[in-house]
Amino acid sequence: MTDRYEDYRPPRRRHRRRRRWSAKRWRFELTRVGVLLVLIALLVLLVQGCRAVVGLIAGDGGEDAAPSQSNAAESSGGETAGEEDAPAGTEDAAAQETEAEPQAEEVTLVMVGDVLLHTPLQDSGLRADGSYNYDHFFTHTRDLISAADLALANQEVILGGTELGLSGYPAFNGAFEVGDALVNAGFDVVCHATNHALDKGEEGLLNCLNFWQTEHPDIGVLGIHASQADQDEIYLYEENGITIALLNYTYGTNGIALPQPYEVDLLEEDRVIADLERADELADFVVVAPHWGTEYTHTPSQEQEDWAELFLAHGADLVLGTHPHVIQPVEWLEDESGNRMLVYYSLGNFINFTSDSGSGVAQRALGAMAQVTLTRGEDGEVSISDYGVVPLVAHMVEGTGNPTVYPLSDYTEELAAQNAMSEKDSAFSLAYCQELSDEVFGELWR
Ligand SMILES: [Zn+2]
Repeated sequence: MTDRYEDYRPPRRRHRRRRRWSAKRWRFELTRVGVLLVLIALLVLLVQGCRAVVGLIAGDGGEDAAPSQSNAAESSGGETAGEEDAPAGTEDAAAQETEAEPQAEEVTLVMVGDVLLHTPLQDSGLRADGSYNYDHFFTHTRDLISAADLALANQEVILGGTELGLSGYPAFNGAFEVGDALVNAGFDVVCHATNHALDKGEEGLLNCLNFWQTEHPDIGVLGIHASQADQDEIYLYEENGITIALLNYTYGTNGIALPQPYEVDLLEEDRVIADLERADELADFVVVAPHWGTEYTHTPSQEQEDWAELFLAHGADLVLGTHPHVIQPVEWLEDESGNRMLVYYSLGNFINFTSDSGSGVAQRALGAMAQVTLTRGEDGEVSISDYGVVPLVAHMVEGTGNPTVYPLSDYTEELAAQNAMSEKDSAFSLAYCQELSDEVFGELWR
């Protein structure tokens, strides 16, 4: 899987380098012309000075021709010396350029779906000494996550901390240590605009924000806010010379009214349009992460399609959807002007441990990681130069340190037989996950 990801990074550095080297060369050439003009000016002054002196001594303007030519020859010699300096200067420019090369204008981005903390998952973090640790969720995906320049996760449930009591379905509350594990895995940005954002009321939401602010101030927290000023700010992620705006909205909060209107970013048309237009001005590339759609459905709803059209009409470049808890297709949308936007309708669950059982439940064990490469082109525009998807399997095994997630390509029939999903829904198997990936993603994941 890692190889596959490495493979699809396009080798475009040479192009950019040439373009930027050329700009430096222009500067160098202009400097050289300036030096030449000064030399000519000096020469003219010198010739006039000589002419005046010769005129004074001989009173004959004809004889100044020789010294003048001689000076011209010297001057020419001086210019030759200047030419010799030129390659050295070019080498300096090239050396500086070589140092600057890591600033290649390309960003790799990944996102995973719902971190949905059912009770067996909550319990799996409790260690013998009473502390919590959830690093095991990411044991088999950490390399893929940390290899990306920018990694996002959909934190489906609020992290209100143990003081509010950990809880699973239906009103969830996660430990701060889940956030620590996200950071340890390499995530840079966490999406919190979900229908579970207010499961523990305003206190849960503010606890969560306070945890991020105090423990991991460098992590981007989207979708929930402690003030109007915070909500009004467009989140910008800058890397390798590219500025990416990231927006995150949810369709609702399970009927719980917002204590303050700014606390959760909702899919409200006026706000979304205003945000998109500002984001388009501020950034090279605009990503929207909507929490939308119909649970347990592989086909995007009319509502998802309508919102996607609105995102495209107002400048979005990439959509990374969550909430249905199952995977949905990846497709390009294009408007009449030729603007294109890539949509991952639903990444499904990253990790979950549903208590449901019966036919159809097996689909909740299969999620996906979106992988997208952004590149600044010759025209200066940033666009998607490559993209893919990695199906992921939530490996449900009870017990401390046990539940985790595997890339489907690393999964085996033996692991599938150990997965509690095998008992919940007898359809579950390695082949089931492969066939569902084929059905929803087609060739994209192979
Ligand atoms: Zn949800």
